[in-house]
Amino acid sequence: MAAKFKAPRGTFDVLPEQQPVRRRIERTAREMLEAAGYGRIDTPVFEDTELFARSVGESTDIVQKQMFTFEDQGGRSLTLRPEATASLCRAYLEHGMHKRAQPVKLWASGPFFRHERPQAGRYRQFSQIDVEVIGSDSPLVDAELIVLLHDLLAELGVEGVRLRLGSLGSPGARLAYLEELRAYLRSHERDLSKEVRERIEVNPLRAFDADHEGTRKVMAEAPTMLDHLGDEDAEHFATVRKLLEREGVAYDLDPTLVRGLDYYTRTVFEFECERLGTQSGLGGGGRYDGLIEQLGGQPTPANGWALGVERVALALGEEGRAPAALVFIVAEGEARDRALALATELRRAGLAADLDLGDRAVKGQMKQADRVGARYALILEDGGAPVLRDMRSGEQREIEPGRLAEELMRGRSEDARGLREEPPVS
Ligand code: AMP
Repeated sequence: MAAKFKAPRGTFDVLPEQQPVRRRIERTAREMLEAAGYGRIDTPVFEDTELFARSVGESTDIVQKQMFTFEDQGGRSLTLRPEATASLCRAYLEHGMHKRAQPVKLWASGPFFRHERPQAGRYRQFSQIDVEVIGSDSPLVDAELIVLLHDLLAELGVEGVRLRLGSLGSPGARLAYLEELRAYLRSHERDLSKEVRERIEVNPLRAFDADHEGTRKVMAEAPTMLDHLGDEDAEHFATVRKLLEREGVAYDLDPTLVRGLDYYTRTVFEFECERLGTQSGLGGGGRYDGLIEQLGGQPTPANGWALGVERVALALGEEGRAPAALVFIVAEGEARDRALALATELRRAGLAADLDLGDRAVKGQMKQADRVGARYALILEDGGAPVLRDMRSGEQREIEPGRLAEELMRGRSEDARGLREEPPVS
């Protein structure tokens, strides 16, 4: 019979065997970020709607079409967070973090929500690892953030990664540039596609992404933002590039890089993976020097990135396996009652122990031990001494009950990776 209920459109369940790869991504990120001085922060999954409207930008797709917005019992408008930066900036201001040593380095991870058209790699609930550095305009911050994301992807083993790098300059220079670009497009209107022509006023930058032959010819000669940076912005960007080159981070300079949020200034970047098809963005971010002030704080430069956990998992394409038990207790007859007591004792000693809860015969229990990937089976029989079976070699020996935990510990440390950790990347 078909199930009556299904997970809502654009959402998914993460089954036990799908957990290891996600856990590895999160653990690697945590270790790397905390070693680099980033402190974990958790914020609510919903915020005042106004926070996102003001930060992400009223005119963006996210705010116009993609927010899950609802009214609470008190008539307040709340929104499930579509991204993390706004929440972290709100927390920075709310907790007076400007009084701490600057910059403040934060990281977060958890679910985000956007009402998008679902497809492979694009969901309505997805997970991000998010990093923000608030309170410094140094190009060192830009470089550190990009190097960290680069190294994280390399450590995870993601292949076919490309970094696109650009600079949007300051808001003033950007506005002036967009005006110039519009004028240029208008003067070549006849050669442009209908679609691009209709979007000259709203979003002239999209013209750079067009497939249309005539448009492409026009855009090859079009003015770019990188040629219109002010002196300070140009110098800042040159330093970021120099630092990346020194760290051996390869990038493609992309004067047309547009990101879907309004608040970006200066450095912007995006890591893509060719294996992912149309939804190729793994993660990205950039500077947002005006945002904190826009949210009511003092002018405070900041920078950050977000990495999509599902996209990384897709790019890795790892076969999952549920975490294995160290020992599976196989018991027969009277000994069945002892099995739970023993499992409890081992669990209290910090060992991963499992037992038959399915009323199986001994043969079925051995099969189950194999199925759950147990390193050992501990066989309890009425009256006799327990027998420990090495599930890999098949070797069996009697064991003194008092020495059981110790024996198992030894097996665990010899083989810690294969047992409690996720399997290595294939
Ligand atoms: P953004 O906040 O739009 O810059 O997104 C940062 C990263 O989050 C992207 O590169 C994707 O990896 C991931 N991401 C964004 N939106 C979605 C979505 N709807 N479904 C899955 N991943 C997403």
